[in-house]
Amino acid sequence: MHYDLPVTRILQRELLVCSPDTTLAVAASRMHEARCGSILVVDPALPEQVLGIWTEKDALALDFNDPHALERPVIEVMSTPVKTLPDHASLGEAAVRFKQDRIRHLLVVDGSGRAQGVVSQTDVVNNQGIEFYVHLRNVESVVKSLPLQVEAETPMAEVVQRMREARCDAAIVCAKGVKGILTGQDVLRLISQGTLATTAGRVASFPLIIVPRDATLYQARQLFAERRIRHLGVAGDDGDIVGLLSYADILDSVEQEYVRELQAALADQALRLQKSEQALALASKVAETSLEAIMITDHRQIIRSVNPAFTLITGYTAEEAIGRDTRLLKSGLHDRAFYEAMYERITESGEWRGEIMNRRKNGEIYPEAMTITAVRNAAGIISNYVCVFSDISEQRRSESDLAESRQQLEQQSNLTESILDTLPLMVTVRDEAGRFVVVNELAASVLGKGKPDLVGCPDEEVLPAETIKRLREDDLKAVQSGKVVVREERLALDTDNPRHYLSYRRAIRLGRRQLTIAASVDITERKHAETMLAVERQVLRLIAEDAPLQRTLELLSGKVEKAVPRARAMVLLRGGPAREDGGVPMSLGAAPSLPAWFRETLTSSVLFARDATCGPALHFGVQHLCDDVRLDPRFSPSRERLDRLGVLSVWSTPIMSPGRDSLGVFTLFLDDCRRPTPLEQETLDHACKMAAIAIERSRASAELQRLATTDTLTGLANRSRFLDTAGEEWARSRRFGHALGVLMIDVDHFKRINDTHGHAAGDAALRHIAACLGTGIREVDRLGRMGGEEFAMVLPETDGVGAMQVAERLRQTVAAEPFMLADGVPLRLTVSIGVTVRVERDDVLDRLFARADEALYEAKRNGRNQAVFNNGALN
Ligand code: GH3
Ligand code: MG
Ligand code: MG
Repeated sequence: MHYDLPVTRILQRELLVCSPDTTLAVAASRMHEARCGSILVVDPALPEQVLGIWTEKDALALDFNDPHALERPVIEVMSTPVKTLPDHASLGEAAVRFKQDRIRHLLVVDGSGRAQGVVSQTDVVNNQGIEFYVHLRNVESVVKSLPLQVEAETPMAEVVQRMREARCDAAIVCAKGVKGILTGQDVLRLISQGTLATTAGRVASFPLIIVPRDATLYQARQLFAERRIRHLGVAGDDGDIVGLLSYADILDSVEQEYVRELQAALADQALRLQKSEQALALASKVAETSLEAIMITDHRQIIRSVNPAFTLITGYTAEEAIGRDTRLLKSGLHDRAFYEAMYERITESGEWRGEIMNRRKNGEIYPEAMTITAVRNAAGIISNYVCVFSDISEQRRSESDLAESRQQLEQQSNLTESILDTLPLMVTVRDEAGRFVVVNELAASVLGKGKPDLVGCPDEEVLPAETIKRLREDDLKAVQSGKVVVREERLALDTDNPRHYLSYRRAIRLGRRQLTIAASVDITERKHAETMLAVERQVLRLIAEDAPLQRTLELLSGKVEKAVPRARAMVLLRGGPAREDGGVPMSLGAAPSLPAWFRETLTSSVLFARDATCGPALHFGVQHLCDDVRLDPRFSPSRERLDRLGVLSVWSTPIMSPGRDSLGVFTLFLDDCRRPTPLEQETLDHACKMAAIAIERSRASAELQRLATTDTLTGLANRSRFLDTAGEEWARSRRFGHALGVLMIDVDHFKRINDTHGHAAGDAALRHIAACLGTGIREVDRLGRMGGEEFAMVLPETDGVGAMQVAERLRQTVAAEPFMLADGVPLRLTVSIGVTVRVERDDVLDRLFARADEALYEAKRNGRNQAVFNNGALN
């Protein structure tokens, strides 16, 4: 319903007016003529001032028994003051007033109280469109009580009185069973005719039109309209009149509904108004204090309002901005498409949110975070835009600062990581629970996992228990001392390839975390090299000290056993007596860790055979590795012994001289199945090289010894060697009181051989003599070449007689064995021999040699080719 339509829309501007002294008869007559229910009383001198109103209802209040009642001036009976309504009031307000004041007419006045027209309840209700209502309700629902009924003969004065008392505007009139109706209008007509002395039957209209009580109000209204009447009788089920329905009743009823609805609507409107006022006040407060700029534009984007934050951000005051186009703020950095897309979005969804570059009054361009909301009017058309924005340049700056420092941090950490990964060190950082916090690439590869897998991983998962125990101790030491803890440690992550590390450990506190940084350098190779160097030094010292070869080989065996876990070494040397099985003659060089029973079997061992296990190493100078003797048939003959020894792998490495001569074999027996690691192989190769040096050195020194004491021409002991042994025999014979014989032997006329047959023939002759002398003597007798063609002999435990016998035998042998010259011509050689023996008074050996010399001279003097004895007693 249109409660808020202005009352002026249905105003009856044609006012029915009369002067205050107008008689009631005249007033009624004019009302009747104008078919109007009321008349306004106006002073003709002041036509704009309404003094009062006289209505149809007031007419019923007249005393019909007073014969002068109709001559009375209207001013005496009018209602005053007239209820008024301001001309800006709405229909709703008018309706409420009708209800409150129980009136049916209101005078509408302007601001200065001038009458503009009259509005009636009928007009108001008719304006509301009552069809819906009258269709739904029936007549019975409106009719309230039985109507006033009077007989046709009843005088009008009585009827009017009864109508007034019953507050009825109409009465049913019964005339001989026929029913008629008498209304306020009929009364007015009567007044206008100037007579009241009549009966109801004469004034009433016949017959009364009747509707059944279940007829709809719509049907009733149709009847009112068709018959141009204002009252209908309502018939009960048996045809009796049960009520009277006036058009006003319908209006009244509709109006009640209407007013109820109206009041609710008004109350709601008031509440909404109150709320919206509060909201407005709040919004304006918010806008005033908001840190975000708020700008309201009309639909053409002309700025209509801005808040203080707008001025702060843009630099434009409200006066400068209001009335200007929003282009005022444009930076020029966005293209047309940007703004088109923005407004398309607003049109579609009512809102746009985003970032935009705008320009301040001072020309500075800055970023804004903006929300634009479209405001639509009741017709759904965009009437305004509300833009809320904030300056995000500070935020942008700090964002970019943050991004930059984040990037720097990232670069820094990448750099640190790269440095850590480039270092030839294992670097780890662990927390107090032993979890890895940082692991560099080398550490990750040693620990056998990817870097990401290790971070957060407890150390127990990747390190052996013994290492963990040590780590914990060192961690604690590092935390307590605050110093760097250095440790050399062996780490066997791969049992076949244990490594040595030098670790530096330090504790640091990072926030609430206690961390341990460890840097470990792999010193395995260095340690290995150092060990080998130390071994080399020891071996060289032994060589320099002329220590027996066995000692050197045992030292090397021990070092190799230390470097190769669970291995026992054996060094075999080439050389020795020929073997019956055809094997290479070998002798045991060293086997310090092997049991005696095993060493003893070696001389008869088939190991030495050409096709035996040490075979390839011995015969072909190549290494032979067997990582499981149970699977190699060549070990079958030795199986029992190897089983007893608990051996599973045998590694045989040849000991080669620099000239590629096979000097022996270095064999390792292991109690597990495996092959050497690269480091173990290196250790073995090094040990073999050192063994080769020691063996060669030992051999060279034996040769040197031999060369130093042997006469190269004859192979006999040379002078010094002979004198040494002679001295030993001399001392022994003196100590034990044993006899000692000495012979001095000189070749006769040797000079002639040289002179006749050449020096070479002389040399050959000397070798011949030496051989003759060497054959006929005992093992204990010592023979030597004293120089030139002179030989000497010491005969232990031989007295003068024995010595002479030996001398004579030697002389005869030489004389009997012809020396063959190169051309096959035999040459006869003889020797002269001086013989003597040790006597008690001899205090030095030279005395014996001197006596023997004397005897020799004598033999020469006596004609040569003879032996002469000289015992000291003769001198
Ligand atoms: P005799 O002893 O019988 O009186 O006569 P002789 O000729 O042997 O005498 P002498 O001792 O004077 O001569 C020794 C010679 O032996 C002198 C020297 O040239 C020669 N001679 C010494 N050493 C060697 C040698 O190593 N080889 C050769 N071919 N001749 C040698
Ligand atoms: Mg001589
Ligand atoms: Mg001679």
